[in-house]
Amino acid sequence: MDIHAAEVIKDLASKDIGFYASHDIPGGQATVHLTAQQVLEYAADPVSYLAAHYGVSREDYLEWHQSGYRVVCCGFTKAGKPCKATVPSLSFVGDPKTWVQGQGGRCTTHG
Ligand SMILES: [Zn+2]
Repeated sequence: MDIHAAEVIKDLASKDIGFYASHDIPGGQATVHLTAQQVLEYAADPVSYLAAHYGVSREDYLEWHQSGYRVVCCGFTKAGKPCKATVPSLSFVGDPKTWVQGQGGRCTTHG
């Protein structure tokens, strides 16, 4: 973003205009409020901004979405294949940090 745009954003903020960004979560959208400075950081790289906002890596943030917000069992079937059953209570995880912390969990069969 160029200097002119940064000045415009600061001017708008000084007139009490607020900013926010939205992103998908299970069943809807979450809203993240942004200061004038944060608008610039967000605009430069939305995914990295949101990952930092939630305290997770960029890769984990993307995987949280790609997983459908679901944590899968890290166990293996009798045939030696990844189980991939949903970990109890982690089928629709609303924030990426909880999703990351749930990794390594197991389903009821492999618990
Ligand atoms: Zn399992």
